[in-house]
Amino acid sequence: MTIEHFDVVVVGAGISGIGAGRHLQAHCPDCSYVILEGRAQIGGTWDLFRYPGIRSDSDMYTLGYSFKPWTEAKAIADGPSILKYLHETATENGIYSHIRFGHHVKAASWDSATARWTVEATRGGEAVRVTCNFLFMCSGYYDYARGYTPDFEGMARFRGTIVHPQLWPQDLDYAGKRVVVIGSGATAVTLVPAMARTAAHVTMLQRSPTYVISRPAEDAFANRLRRWLPAMLAYRIIRWRNVTLQQWIFRLARSRPAQVRKKLLDLVRAELGPGYDVGTHFTPRYKPWEQRLCLVPDADLFAAIRSGSASVVTDRIDTFTEGGILLESGNALEADIIVTATGLELQFLSGMDTSVDGQKVDFSKTLGYKGMMFSGVPNLASSFGYTNASWTLKADLTCEYVCRLLNHMRATGTAIATPVLDDPDVVPERWVDFSSGYFERALHKFPKQGSKLPWKVYQNYAKDILLFKYRSVDDGTMVFAKAGARAAELA
Ligand SMILES: Cc1cc2nc3c(=O)[nH]c(=O)nc-3n(C[C@H](O)[C@H](O)[C@H](O)COP(=O)(O)OP(=O)(O)OC[C@H]3O[C@@H](n4cnc5c(N)ncnc54)[C@H](O)[C@@H]3O)c2cc1C
Repeated sequence: MTIEHFDVVVVGAGISGIGAGRHLQAHCPDCSYVILEGRAQIGGTWDLFRYPGIRSDSDMYTLGYSFKPWTEAKAIADGPSILKYLHETATENGIYSHIRFGHHVKAASWDSATARWTVEATRGGEAVRVTCNFLFMCSGYYDYARGYTPDFEGMARFRGTIVHPQLWPQDLDYAGKRVVVIGSGATAVTLVPAMARTAAHVTMLQRSPTYVISRPAEDAFANRLRRWLPAMLAYRIIRWRNVTLQQWIFRLARSRPAQVRKKLLDLVRAELGPGYDVGTHFTPRYKPWEQRLCLVPDADLFAAIRSGSASVVTDRIDTFTEGGILLESGNALEADIIVTATGLELQFLSGMDTSVDGQKVDFSKTLGYKGMMFSGVPNLASSFGYTNASWTLKADLTCEYVCRLLNHMRATGTAIATPVLDDPDVVPERWVDFSSGYFERALHKFPKQGSKLPWKVYQNYAKDILLFKYRSVDDGTMVFAKAGARAAELA
């Protein structure tokens, strides 16, 4: 059997993988590449999630690519519009012909002697093998097969329907039904007003509240600017305004949490009126931006609560019953449908079995280099976006860096690039500085970041532009070698 070889194998055809294809074509035009995608469609997250109201919770001027302006009226866009944007990007750039659908990557092994990765995938039960010089993981950050559902007492007893938003049955009829949505994150906050339009009633059942903020779905300034200026110029201006504003709010939240907390809660009070118990239902235990801030476009959640079609209950589940949920307070919620908007099952590099020169790589023992390559692991990068800003901002920068790295290797005749940790002052830290439950559950499987550059992840787009686009790739930490130099000897 002949094994196909590519300069670059990209795993995944979501926002990151499609972006990787476009960047490789633009900046490394002589590079051969293939995108191995496990599913039958592009889009990743934006194709998988099909629950009512699915939308972005960050603006499309920053969730869009640096090279393709977002031109629709809504800045907070629905899932189908985002998917359309991705299809357009793939079509305009001829990326579809590089994608192999239905190829689920299971393992990758690096061989220093040949300076190649062997990537093993399955296609409908059949094993497929390709080799490459560089492996670019754009596989997202969670398990596609299942979402996270806690083991609630008595679930099997419930006579109605239980649904997880990640596996939404397209024929689910909730018109006139009593719905309980368990959760308080972005998904719950999206689902509740969307389902409340036709359901008999929707209850958002949360153990503890999340910070929420309402913003108009349409950005009036952006839409005006787009009428006056060429699309790309308007896009760049709006993008930078949004990046700056977002960073300013994030820094303010971290430096003056009490002030930001008061402002956020005042805004909720203004929406729900003086009689509403904001203290119980919208006042989190943590400080603002220790977890992602939840966006409520056009105040839709508040409107649903005001109209009585939705309500919030803050309590703990004692047990599911035949007819709904019994709470620890002794109260009961009657339900026909229970939606477990309880989160994602995080997964690092899709759980791929990875080895370097015959040694299995335990990524939790590695240190992330710029948050995208890993100490002691040659020629492998992964796309992991910002936690405090749009994913694509960092995905774009990561792709640009990978292209610079590939071009540098080509220019210097080197075949291997390995981040090597040889600074004893670098102290390992958590991969992300966030307290969200889904991170807490999974962080032990993720690499660490370091206490200083280039191992530190600042979650700061402006800083990263300098780091990814302008700092020399040959920075003393990235060690370059010819084929044959064993990774273990470099470290
Ligand atoms: C419901 C939801 C809403 C979100 N909203 C926002 C938002 O508003 N703003 C924001 O910045 N971020 C948001 N995110 C985070 C979001 O995941 C990123 O914005 C972005 O879509 C990630 O793109 P990606 O291409 O890196 O990963 P994904 O979208 O996860 O795509 C990964 C792709 O890789 C494929 N793949 C995975 N493993 C393998 C394998 N082993 N072999 C082959 N193929 C594989 C998958 O099938 C998929 O197509 C949201 C996430 C969710 C779940």
